[in-house]
Amino acid sequence: MNEIICKKCGMKYGYELCGPVYPGCKDRENADCPYCGETGYSTMTSQILVVTKLEKDDSPIENNKEGESDE
Ligand SMILES: [Zn+2]
Repeated sequence: MNEIICKKCGMKYGYELCGPVYPGCKDRENADCPYCGETGYSTMTSQILVVTKLEKDDSPIENNKEGESDE
């Protein structure tokens, strides 16, 4: 896993190359920032670039009390 700090939004994400390598079947793969879409890395490969978020999502809405009765 390679880590990138997005130069546009400053968020951290990672990319990995997955899949088999086919010689001569190279294509342009981009590792786009999963937060803002900025391309942080691109390479010519037959593999697939898989991008993973490394920052915790700030979603306080998810933290709703749902059936948590501790009384
Ligand atoms: Zn970004």
